[in-house]
This record gives sequence, C-alpha cells and structure tokens, in this order.
Amino acid sequence: MIGFQLNDSLSLDAFSTNPFSILDQLCQDDLATCLSLHLLENGDRLPRENWQIAQIKNLLAYAKAHSSFWNNRIPDCSSLSEVFQQIPILSRDDLNLQVSNEGPLSKAFLGDEISPYQSTGSTGIPVKIFTTKNNSRYNSLRSLAQYLIENRSFALNRTFIKPADGPHLYENDVGIKIESYESWNGALNTLFKSGSYKIIHFLDDVDALIGELKKQKVGYLACPDSIFSILVKNGGKELISSLNIHMWLHHSDNLSDSSRMLMKEIGIPIRSNYSAAEVGLIAFECEEMPGCYHVAHSNVYVEENSNDVIKVFNKELKRLIVTQLHSFVTPIIRYELGDYGCLHNSCPCGHDGPTLSDIYGRKKNFIKCSDGNLIPFTFYSKPINDIVDFDEIFCYQPRVDQLVIELGSKKQIMSRQMDELVSYINRVTQNQFDIVVKCVTKIDWTRNPKKLPFISYID
Ligand SMILES: [Zn+2]
Repeated sequence: MIGFQLNDSLSLDAFSTNPFSILDQLCQDDLATCLSLHLLENGDRLPRENWQIAQIKNLLAYAKAHSSFWNNRIPDCSSLSEVFQQIPILSRDDLNLQVSNEGPLSKAFLGDEISPYQSTGSTGIPVKIFTTKNNSRYNSLRSLAQYLIENRSFALNRTFIKPADGPHLYENDVGIKIESYESWNGALNTLFKSGSYKIIHFLDDVDALIGELKKQKVGYLACPDSIFSILVKNGGKELISSLNIHMWLHHSDNLSDSSRMLMKEIGIPIRSNYSAAEVGLIAFECEEMPGCYHVAHSNVYVEENSNDVIKVFNKELKRLIVTQLHSFVTPIIRYELGDYGCLHNSCPCGHDGPTLSDIYGRKKNFIKCSDGNLIPFTFYSKPINDIVDFDEIFCYQPRVDQLVIELGSKKQIMSRQMDELVSYINRVTQNQFDIVVKCVTKIDWTRNPKKLPFISYID
C-alpha cells in the first residue's frame, strides 16, 4: 500500500487565494514530484521497470548521438538488453577522460543551465562532471520525498554538519562556519510548517561545534560517522543525549558498530544512506531492516560485477556498478563504484525492488589476509590516542603479513605503551599480523596525499 500520513500541521497560508487553484504552483509542482517519486520507488515493480527501461533508452540514444566517446562504446543493436550488457564498464579514469576530451555533451540540456561539479576526492582522485539545474532539483526533491515516504515531520529542525571542503575556512583560520535558514523544505514550506535549518561547516574547532549544537534543538542530525565520533569522543553519551537529536541521518562513510550501539542505548534512531558524489543517492537504509538499503530506483540502476568478487568474513561481495538515469550532460553508464556489496532482488521487509546489503568501501580500506579473506578495517585514531600521544597517524599494510603504524611528532614510545598499542591492534585485526610501530618526526604523505588513515598496498 502506498500512502502517507499527515503528521505535520499545515501553515496558516497553506492554500492559494487564486481562483481555481488550491496550492501555489511551485508548491504543487514539488509536492506532485515527491508523491510521484514515492509511487515510482515503492509502487508496483513492472511499471517501475518499464519506466527505467525507457529512461535508459533515452540516455543511451542521447549519449551515442552527442559523444564520439559514447558512440564507440555503445553498440548498434535494436534490443536494449543486448546493447546494455555489451557496454564496457566505465572506470573513474574513463569518466575523467570523457570529461576532459569532450566536456558537457550539450550547452543546454532541455533548455536547462549546465554547471560543472567536482567531487572532493575524499576516497581517491576527484571526479569532474557536468550537471543541470534539473539534476539539482531532483536531488533536493528526492531528499524531501524520503520524509513523506517515512511519514517524518518537516516541523523539526535540521542540522547538517559538513566537513569543511573549501579553502575558505583554512584561509581565514576559522574552525567552523555557520549558515542558518528559517526552513529546509523548500517550496513545500508554504504548505507544511518547517523547523529551522543550520549548516555547520566544520574544520577543527570542536568546542565551537559543540557550543553551536547546544544553541537550539538539533532535530534531524545529518553528518558522517567521522564527525559523530568526534562529538562522542569529546562529550560522550551525555552530550549526545542532551542535544535533542530526533534522528541521525548518517551518510558518506562507514557507520561504525560503536556509534550504532551508542544510539541504540540512548534510543535515537539512525537512518543511513548510500550515495556517491558523482551519481547522488544510490540507496536508502530500510526502516525495518537495518543494514538493508532500498535502491533509489528513480535515480540509479544498480548491477554487480561478477568478475570482481572479494570475500569478507567468508561472504562473497561483488563490485557495484551504477547507471545514473538522468546523467545526460555527463553520461554515467555502467560506472564502477569503488564499493563492494550484495545486491538482492527484494528486501526482507517486503519491499519489492533491488536492495543492497553488506556495503563496504574501496578495496584499499580492507586488510588482506594470507588466506585471501579481507577484513574491513576502519582505522580509528581515538583508541590509539588514549594509549599514546601523537600529532598525526598513518597505518598501512605493506605486506600480507604485516601492518605498520606511523606516529608523527613522536621521538620514542615507552615499552608499556608499545605493548598496549600492539595488543590493541592485534585485537582489532584478529591476531593475524606482525605489527610494526614507527615513531617519526613527520609522516611522509607522498604515497597517500589524501592522508587516509589506513591504506592496504596489497592488490
Ligand atoms: Zn526493506
């Protein structure tokens, strides 16, 4: 059954004063789009699949007609299913090559303005693509639609903590920067009352961040686990309990078991989503089955690459491939994400549509064992910082039987600390490695310019 409950109060001026009209046009358009997205993603499967086939056909025809890069990759054939499987998988390098050689495929798609977008490259080389205003409109409406799909209220505040990615904060030596808005539900604001919206760009001033969060009810907290962990490290369970968080909308990185446990203890729900900068939303975590993610059928078509399989805890995971259904100006067709996961035909909750589980990041975020198994390894510096002080830290796997931990700005380490540190790393890596601790004046980041806390150099 598809529907939504009206949990929110309507604004006093919710309805239009014009003849033969109920809602203001903009609000009506956005509401209709949100409800259409709900019907498309959660309604009957066959009409949805027909819609996806039509969208993929549009995309292939456009890419073939407007790009020699894509003309070479898309074979001439009348049957979509045959053509699609023959299109080679698109790597990040291929995508960068197409963009640098050809730029956007048109100056204005459907009369819409085109703008460049560059990912932060937090997990590797940044990717530059081109998008249209319609792409941004889709992204914001898909995000709002999730509130209607899950019957969540727009009346609560929304607080988004974003890792600082621009040079602004660094240049001005400011630890946080705040953007405040009266509402966060766009044109739906004329219909549904909205809580306030705060975006906190966070660089490194933790006290300022906590002070800012204490100023008003947080409501929906949107942030990656890396930032949530900083809050826990500095204020513990008491701080998290005191901030009036209604729900944590986790995104961008791996959700750690410790964060999940803590929120369960406090009684705050978590909803995680899976997305990639260059394609947008890929899947939303199921309300009923934590760890299962319903694919965002209105945005992407997801496949698994059976030729790229890894074993994690003896479970086979395949590399994920996505096609972004609206990527007309920079086509993203059969694009290989860095991530691995399991793709299922449906969700145990009853949702009749492709569902992902066991999503893990890039291969370099795993420790490779000698038996070929991989251990997902999210390297946290806090437990190590509790044992020994350092300014910077880098852990890497140079050989299949060895892990090296470099501690920056450290001349020496006491033997008691060394024992504790080695025992901690042994515990989290299942006692399978020779642990080497190196104290260095400065860490050499040339092989790891993004300063990722952990890299495995084993292929
Ligand atoms: Zn589900």
